[in-house]
Amino acid sequence: MNISLRKTALLLVALASAWEARGENLTRFAFEKAEMGLPFHITLYAADETVARQSADAAFERIAQLNGVLSDYDSGSELSRLSLSSGQGKAVPVSPDLWRVLECSQALAEKTDGAFDVTVGPLVNTWRRARRKQELPGAELLAEMRSRVGFKNMRLDAALHTVELLKPEMRLDLGAIAKGYAVDEALSVLRRRGIPIALVGGSGDMAAGDPPPDQPGWRIEVAALDLPGAPAAQILFLKNRAIATSGDVFQRLEIGGVRYSHIVDPHTGLGLTDHSLVTIVASNCITADSLATAVSVLGPDRGLKLIEETPDAAAHLVRKPAEKIEFLESSRWKRE
Ligand code: AMP
Ligand code: MG
Repeated sequence: MNISLRKTALLLVALASAWEARGENLTRFAFEKAEMGLPFHITLYAADETVARQSADAAFERIAQLNGVLSDYDSGSELSRLSLSSGQGKAVPVSPDLWRVLECSQALAEKTDGAFDVTVGPLVNTWRRARRKQELPGAELLAEMRSRVGFKNMRLDAALHTVELLKPEMRLDLGAIAKGYAVDEALSVLRRRGIPIALVGGSGDMAAGDPPPDQPGWRIEVAALDLPGAPAAQILFLKNRAIATSGDVFQRLEIGGVRYSHIVDPHTGLGLTDHSLVTIVASNCITADSLATAVSVLGPDRGLKLIEETPDAAAHLVRKPAEKIEFLESSRWKRE
């Protein structure tokens, strides 16, 4: 997937505030490692450095393992092997991790009427090539690629945990959701090892555990849209919550003065052009990550409606579809 290469900028910067030990003998440790093609960060509080390092290593190891399952860049990943089974009339048994991510993806695809769709791989690959060549794809090619896309062509069997891809040449792409899941899983590893006070981040996606000692939460800076006149960055304090951001600030293709996002509208086959930055806070990062991409595609009206209907989720949107910058937030955002 290199889910990841896609976000060139570190958009949310987590800063653990300075902390004076008060009775409890905990020290703050920070680790960084490249996984899934981008830097992942872990900040945690532990009794000593050995415990801290071993726990961080175990969490990074879990992310690396998930990359082997969920990556669309790695041709040997479980996901890539599943893609190659497309159109062969085969229902393929999948691992619990792949099942969890695909089940969550399909539920969101249903809810968004296919605005969020992990079968979008052929279109994403077409836009990646277009970016390399600096040339828009032709109408015929786009039509061909669109015919390979559609979440209804992916059949999940909940009893058997099998997946069947009904059309030939389908390609799954979990770039909009896998990093969120990986961050959640890394935080779970830390918790299971007795490290509840932790923050795990992969680019703009972060999962926060218990807050640092004497702090209301982990201090997170929400990136601002990189356009003149956009509102300044906001600061949030998160505990046992997750945050994710999507937008064409991070990856885009500019041709003929038009800026196309790496996020594709599966209904048109085109990269989004309405310059937006969507930030979602939710109870876990698989939800926040997937919703951020979904709301980017749905736009403000349908997007905010989806957020209001999702328990415990909040959204903040900055858009510049034309001359004027729009700034919107869901009803629960203020609480964050
Ligand atoms: P994110 O940065 O989380 O918004 O994810 C963007 C990535 O998700 C893209 O680079 C593609 O790999 C993938 N993607 C693009 N469009 C869609 C879509 N409509 N639904 C699901 N995934 C998408
Ligand atoms: Mg996403």
